[in-house]
Amino acid sequence: MSKGTINVSVDNIFPLIKKFLYSDHEIFLRELISNATDATLKMKHLANIGEAKGVEYGNPIIEVKLDKKKKELRIIDQGIGMTKEEVEKYINEIAFSGAEEFIEKYKDKNGKDAGIIGHFGLGFYSAFMVAKKVEIITKSYKDEPAVHWTCEGSPEFTIEKADKKERGTEIILHIADDSTEFLEESRIRELLVKYNKFMPIPIKFGTRTETLPKPEGAKEDDKAPTKEVDNIINNPNPAWTKQPTELEDKDYKSFYRELYPMQFEEPLFHIHLNVDYPFNLTGILYFPKMTNDMSIQKDKIQLYQNQVFVTDNVEGIVPEFLTMLRGVIDSPDIPLNVSRSYLQADGAVKKISSYITRKVADKLKSLFNNDREGFEKKWNDIKIVIEYGMLTEDKFFEKAQDFALYPTVDGNYFTFSEFKEKIKDVQTDKDDKLVILYASDKEEQHSYIEAAKEKGYEVLLLDSPIVTHLLQKVESKEEKISFVRVDSDHIENLIKKDDAQISKLSDEEKETLKTFLDGVIPKEKFSVQLEALDSNANPFIITEPEFMRRMKDMQKTGGGGMFGMGGFPEMYNLIVNTNHELVSEILNTKTDKKKERLVNQALDLARLSKNLLKGEELTAFIKRSYEMIK
Ligand code: ADP
Repeated sequence: MSKGTINVSVDNIFPLIKKFLYSDHEIFLRELISNATDATLKMKHLANIGEAKGVEYGNPIIEVKLDKKKKELRIIDQGIGMTKEEVEKYINEIAFSGAEEFIEKYKDKNGKDAGIIGHFGLGFYSAFMVAKKVEIITKSYKDEPAVHWTCEGSPEFTIEKADKKERGTEIILHIADDSTEFLEESRIRELLVKYNKFMPIPIKFGTRTETLPKPEGAKEDDKAPTKEVDNIINNPNPAWTKQPTELEDKDYKSFYRELYPMQFEEPLFHIHLNVDYPFNLTGILYFPKMTNDMSIQKDKIQLYQNQVFVTDNVEGIVPEFLTMLRGVIDSPDIPLNVSRSYLQADGAVKKISSYITRKVADKLKSLFNNDREGFEKKWNDIKIVIEYGMLTEDKFFEKAQDFALYPTVDGNYFTFSEFKEKIKDVQTDKDDKLVILYASDKEEQHSYIEAAKEKGYEVLLLDSPIVTHLLQKVESKEEKISFVRVDSDHIENLIKKDDAQISKLSDEEKETLKTFLDGVIPKEKFSVQLEALDSNANPFIITEPEFMRRMKDMQKTGGGGMFGMGGFPEMYNLIVNTNHELVSEILNTKTDKKKERLVNQALDLARLSKNLLKGEELTAFIKRSYEMIK
């Protein structure tokens, strides 16, 4: 046995390791299993190229063993192992100089910054975050004796011969008193599933009982025979590591279930990512059914590096609008131990992000081209991602012109150019502007939609929370186009044609009517406007100017903060149709009391049709209505 001191200037590196990696102690297991995997894959490589004479590669596995009584956790591999020289070189010198450099770099930082170094870099020594003593028993594939290295968390170590016969490495962690959580089977299982679920070498953790088929001639109530088999916790060949040509739709679906066992809904479709130039990236992205709530669906994409789980926060790597998708991305080219802001500025990462955007756009386009009907059916479930992408990424906006859909209230779907073509003859106003009408809620805006349809106009149904922002963008990109919501004005004002209606009322009558209305209708809520409309149009119509409503909408979903502090006043226009019989009747009613009743009743009906009549006012309205009919 020989003793030595690890070549490191910091007196005791271990408390530092503990301190700096505090937030992420659990990653030690991922690091050790990564090392075991690397060692096994190296063995495979050597065997393949005929380097390792007389060595069988076989079917190696990695075993994780827990002994709660002895407070030990072991990670055992059948990889290339290390000779004494190698242990001295890789464990004592290199690793420590790496650790030292690392500590140097981060020693001024406080504990909070430790998160950024949680990803990779410290390797083997991260074992000391949870162990008070670590042993390595290793035998190289080369014909040399096995070695036993022991270190108790100070820069001193011992190294001696061991009698291990089989090739490979066994790491023994003597779990420290403050880390006993890692002696719990459930905790280790949780970590294995989190970080190692798709690592390329089978990982065994305990055994499980498998039921075998009953032997022939067995009786009905004979128990089926059972057998103890290795409990392998990972799938070493996950779908994304295969070629798209090897996979069928059902394989993608079953992989989705593997990724999200608690998710019962099937994905709508998938996108297989596969590039090796100018960067390496593989992965599968899924479009799940989306709801209109964008905040709750993020953080479902998992980032891997060579099948090792890294994080489920892919912000910066995947364009923001695609963080609503699910699936995996695996790339050795994404720098991991850096801050997010650095990541976003990194050239390779930018390329990755725009590659993913392009792939998603291409896939959507081909789905649209190959099966338009199917695409239309899915539209409602995917539009939020597409619309958000169009809003935030100009490149995507352009590409989306080919497949972004604009549904009408009658359930017909158009691309933007198809729709323009369809409505251009009827919906161009006197200033040659194409006016696109839309509704955000078929029920609430029903009477306005009907009025538009009566005129032969098409009404789009655009109900995403971000749609106002998007329309704003479309308007800025297109010439002579404007979107107006059906309830933002009376239909004849929405698309102004030259043929103005003649008013039944004289100017004098209008004046009298206006004065009366102003006295009855609350000024702080409604601005009264007399208009000579079609005599069939409703007598009282409440509208909210497009501009005002957009500002409100945008404030709700962020942006447009002009009125940021106080919010918007609840203010509407009340359009009074002077050509309607009821309006003449109001004018001609003798007593003010009766007049007032008619006005209030008509106003309430207008509010009711805009869904503005609620609570106490609704109760009063109903009461008044009963009185009027009795
Ligand atoms: P890294 O893995 O980043 O190189 P580590 O500190 O984890 O740093 O490991 C240092 C070196 O020790 C590895 O590069 C490898 O050569 C050797 N090593 C670690 N674990 C094993 C193992 N299980 N089998 C064989 N060699 C190992």
